[in-house]
Amino acid sequence: MELKYSFALGFDIHPLVEGRKLRIGGVEIPSSFGPLGHSDGDALLHALMDAMLSASGLPDIGTLFPDNDPAYKDIDSTLLLEKVLEAISQRGFKVYQVDLTLILDKPKLSPFYEAIKENLSRLLRISKERVGLKAKTSEGLLFPKESPAIMAFSLIVLEKV
Ligand code: MG
Repeated sequence: MELKYSFALGFDIHPLVEGRKLRIGGVEIPSSFGPLGHSDGDALLHALMDAMLSASGLPDIGTLFPDNDPAYKDIDSTLLLEKVLEAISQRGFKVYQVDLTLILDKPKLSPFYEAIKENLSRLLRISKERVGLKAKTSEGLLFPKESPAIMAFSLIVLEKV
């Protein structure tokens, strides 16, 4: 019997540098540091998209949206997410649930949890209760002060429709 659900894990990491916008889950967070990357560097959305693609048997975002393609320079990752939603839909899947963990030393993200969850719920067309989100600091163990970074893990559950 074929399973009705498909699961996968996604991961991403970006260095944080001065003067870039910090976008997390499509929400702009006030910060003097932001992710260095070819796109807008939204690590949360990148981890999420890789999980969605993997769970539906598709290639990863680096293959679908190459970082040497000028079309994706500084692109808003929510636009890439729309393409990924379309791609998984063509494979007969829709998002059922997502669970996300961010690791960064600053800024503190808890004041933005609700806004990020609401945005993801809207983008993924699922209820907010099915969007899990938490952020941890690395307690200074992962990222030296002079080279901060943001890391994201995503678990996805897709439903076969
Ligand atoms: Mg990335």
